[in-house]
Amino acid sequence: MDSSAPASATPGSTGSTGRKRGQKCTSDVWDDFDPIYNEVNGVKVKVKAKCHRCKSILSAAGSGGTGHLRRHRKSCIAKSERTARVQGASV
Ligand SMILES: [Zn+2]
Repeated sequence: MDSSAPASATPGSTGSTGRKRGQKCTSDVWDDFDPIYNEVNGVKVKVKAKCHRCKSILSAAGSGGTGHLRRHRKSCIAKSERTARVQGASV
């Protein structure tokens, strides 16, 4: 048998998908938190975040550290919902 099949089975059009992801600097958690700034050498630096719901103040120093804020928001919502339910059910 004549097996002269082309070895290179490379699917054409390997398009260059060098698309940069537009990562937003501001996270959506700030919809539920108030940023608290501290002025250092005339420069405002975000240091804390205040929860809209329970008024808790969480540390939010630096950039891109909103994981715990997300977690807090989630538990805060769950807690407030549970509290509302308990209040509605019985005293
Ligand atoms: Zn909260």
